Amino acid sequence: MRLQFLGTGTSFGVPQIGCGCKVCRSDDPRDKRLRSSLWVRGEAVSIVIDTTPDFRCQCLRAAVDRVDAIFFTHHHADHFFGLDDARVYNRMQDSVIPVYLPAYMVEQFEQTYAYTLIEWPDGITRPRFELRPIDQQEYRKLEFDEISVTPVIVNHGSDDINGYVIETARSKVAYLTDCKALPPATVELVQGADVVILGSLWNRDWQHPAHLNLADTRKLAAALQGAQTWLTHLSHHMDLHAETSKILSDGVQLAYDGLVLEVE
Ligand SMILES: [Zn+2]
Ligand SMILES: [Zn+2]
Ligand SMILES: [Zn+2]
Repeated sequence: MRLQFLGTGTSFGVPQIGCGCKVCRSDDPRDKRLRSSLWVRGEAVSIVIDTTPDFRCQCLRAAVDRVDAIFFTHHHADHFFGLDDARVYNRMQDSVIPVYLPAYMVEQFEQTYAYTLIEWPDGITRPRFELRPIDQQEYRKLEFDEISVTPVIVNHGSDDINGYVIETARSKVAYLTDCKALPPATVELVQGADVVILGSLWNRDWQHPAHLNLADTRKLAAALQGAQTWLTHLSHHMDLHAETSKILSDGVQLAYDGLVLEVE
């Protein structure tokens, strides 16, 4: 299984419009962050988690060859508003694409993407999705050929959103992007994973109501005991990739756009 970070930025992206800080002006490609999303490619299946407003550019850049299923973590615009561009995969694959999302998002989907749910005249490339609402309390494993995906609850401030635990016969990966805290059932399932991907907003002492700062993310990473921990959903206040990487240890590293992890 191959994981690729399609984007590792917070909702504003990095550089942030109108900002002249050293991170936003950096020439290091690892400091250029589109909105957060992950591509999971097995031998027989290709899954994306979230469709960001940068989705089209991300798919071109990473050469995403097909999309067999889309998983949403939650309803925020930086994760949700790029879905229209997935319709090219409807056409390439001549298929309806299943969309897995927390059940609470169905109403918002029907409002935001109402135009995908109506009849269209022939000859127009219509987005075609089939909604598969997830009961968040179930933690029910979904099987896709050699890969399984288990939705898990992640506390994101006032919302309980989804993270995903992705497994093969030999490996376990956890994708927990917009995270303030984890309930015990999620901790239990994630603990000891080969790869843990955690959201972390900034390298500052500030508290955000819905995201972890770097110090708190490192404490959570230590409790989860992943063999590797990669941080994503980073703002320009995470400082330069090269500088922040120097202060990290214990298998915790900053992810960056385009990073590929090969997992057995
Ligand atoms: Zn977000
Ligand atoms: Zn900046
Ligand atoms: Zn969010």
